[in-house]
Formats: sequence, structure tokens, C-alpha cells
Amino acid sequence: MQYREYGKTGIKLSILGFGCMRFPTDEQGRIKEDEAIEMLRYAYEHGVNIFDSAAVYNNGESERVLGKAVKDFRDKIYISTKNHYKGKDAGEWRKILEGSLERLGVEYIDFYHMHDLRLNQFLEGVSVKGGPLEEAHKAKEEGLIKHLCFSSHDSPENVKKLIDTGEFEGILVQYNILDRTYEEVIAYARQKGLGVLVMGPVGGGRLAEPSEQVQKLIPGGAKSSAEAALRFVFANENVTTALSGMSSMEMVKENIEVASKVGPLTQEEKQRIAEMMDRLKKLADLYCTGCGYCMPCPNGVDIPANFRAMIYYKVYGLKELAKREYRRLKERKVDGEPKPASADQCVECGQCEEKCPQKIPIMQQLKEVRETLGG
Ligand code: SF4
Ligand code: SF4
Repeated sequence: MQYREYGKTGIKLSILGFGCMRFPTDEQGRIKEDEAIEMLRYAYEHGVNIFDSAAVYNNGESERVLGKAVKDFRDKIYISTKNHYKGKDAGEWRKILEGSLERLGVEYIDFYHMHDLRLNQFLEGVSVKGGPLEEAHKAKEEGLIKHLCFSSHDSPENVKKLIDTGEFEGILVQYNILDRTYEEVIAYARQKGLGVLVMGPVGGGRLAEPSEQVQKLIPGGAKSSAEAALRFVFANENVTTALSGMSSMEMVKENIEVASKVGPLTQEEKQRIAEMMDRLKKLADLYCTGCGYCMPCPNGVDIPANFRAMIYYKVYGLKELAKREYRRLKERKVDGEPKPASADQCVECGQCEEKCPQKIPIMQQLKEVRETLGG
């Protein structure tokens, strides 16, 4: 297992972290506790030293199971969890913190994240005088939390502004082969001395199927798409740790094997990955850049989402994923009412084509999507 320093804290984290949002569950949706504990202990014994949960995962059960699993070696690992309260009430925020400490059965949390924080929530809620941010400072002085961090899905520009507030020691954002939205933010965070955790390194399970194109991305090839996906994230040295949401012992073993065998990549290997990624991106952009200027469609077709599914199929060779995405568009519901957004809703009115800056033959391409993915 490789270890990397988390920002300026001096803490060394394993490059693979255990994301505790996908524990195996029974038919009633309850966590299969014994199985989950075995997985967590196995991970610890094989060098994983960072475990990430949230107060809201499995209604708090994820934290309880994590706490139980790590009880005997709590001081040797780092616990990360999250507080989802984003209003102005310090007391509400504190209640969630205390709930997490109790469920985890710990005296302190190493990395405490404001969960899914947006810039406007920070400015208008969390950071008001006498609000949660002040409470967080207090909790830090009391030793209840060691490092204050945030996770976010806000725009990259806003995530940078959150970093610039100087209030946080680390960030947690999504990053994988299929979604590089935050690549620049990740580099920015590291440059500013923050630690970087990333979620979804294997695309939330979307990269589970074999794909020649994805596996070839890694110099020397990868045994599976999941391996290629993890190694792609590990290759980015601005990332401290990839938090993989592991749902079975098999997955834990596979991820640990990948994290253990990868040595630091040479400059040449990194260059090669970057070139391959650029090539895929160019191919994808030829099909559609996803800018959204063609929207909305009067007939409800989500044009960029249909083309994204086709890009998974054509460019990344992820055929099953592409078909699942298309089915999701076809079966989409809004407020419980069917609102399909798939290519077969297109009546060829032509309005969208006039708006596309790339001059993409949208109607013809939608027909191709329908024929390839709709079967
Ligand atoms: S051509 Fe099809 S996709 Fe484009 S606006 Fe008309 S109905 Fe919508
Ligand atoms: S305007 Fe063109 S490039 Fe942009 S999302 Fe629509 S089809 Fe894709």
C-alpha cells in the first residue's frame, strides 16, 4: 500500500480509502453487519487507514457499524465523516456532530466534512455569526474534531472559492475516468496545501464491466475496468486518497490488490495516460461536448444525456452502462409522472440543431442512439 500526505497535516493516508456508503445489505435494506465488519477489518489488516462515512448513510447505521469494526484499532486509523446541516443554527449542527461521535463510539473524528456544501450555503448559512462554522471551531478546540473539511458537488469555480475561505484543511469531490470535472480544482487544492479525498473513483460501480478502451488506458494494460479506473485516479498525485465505496469482500480484495501493486508512475507513464485521456475526450467531444445549448427540447428529450450514453458506448466501450443510462432516460419520472427523456421522444422538429455551436446533426445522431441503445 502506498501512503500520501494529507495537505499540511503531516498525516499519511493510504491511497485507497474505505467508503462506507455501500455496505452489503439484506432484503430489508439493513446492513449485513458481520460481513461489513469482516470487510473493514480485512482492509485495515491490508494497510487501509482511512475510513469514510456520513451521518446520513444508512440512517446512521453506517457510522455505527464502522465504529464497531474499528474499536480495537481506532488509534491506528483515521475516521472521516460528514455533517449535512447547512443552515444557521449552531445547535442543530452540534447535535449532528454529537450523534456521529456517539454512533461511532469515538472521542474524536479525524476529518470532519461539511457534507455536500455549496458556496451559497456557506455564505448565507454555515458561516453566519454564531452559526455552525463558529461551532466547528469550538468543537476543534474541544478536541472533538481534528480537521475541518468539506465535500461538494458545486461548480468548480465555487469549490475554489470555498477553498479560498481558508477555513478548510481538505476537500472531497468526485473524480474518475468518466468525470474529470474537478481535475483542476484538485490541483488547486493541493497547491493551496489542502488534502484531497475523492469519491466515486470507479464511477459508483459504473466502471464494473470489461472495456478494452478503458483497460488500455493504463500503460501495460489493466486486468479490469475497475483496476484501470483506480489506477487512473492513483496516477494523479494531487489526490491524497481515493475513497472506494466497497460492497463485497471480493471488491475489497480487488481494490487492495490494485492499490498494493501500483508503484509510483514514471513521468512517461503519466504522460501516456494524459495523452490517451485527451484522445478519448476529443473523440467524445466530436460526438457532443455536453454544453447544453440545444436545450430545452419541446418534446422533453434530454439531448446531451442521450449523447453521453452513446459516448459511453462508442468511445469508452461501456456498452452495458450505455444501455442502462438509456433505459433510465426512457423510464424517467418527474413528480411520480412518466416524463421520458430518451431519443425516441424526438419528433424531428429541428429546433435544436439551429442552436448547436458544434453543428452536430442532432436528429440523425438521436436516431443512431435509439437504434443502438433502444433495443
Ligand atoms: S429535433 Fe427532436 S430533439 Fe431536437 S428539439 Fe425537436 S424534438 Fe427535440
Ligand atoms: S448543443 Fe450540440 S454539443 Fe451542445 S449539448 Fe447540444 S448537441 Fe451537444
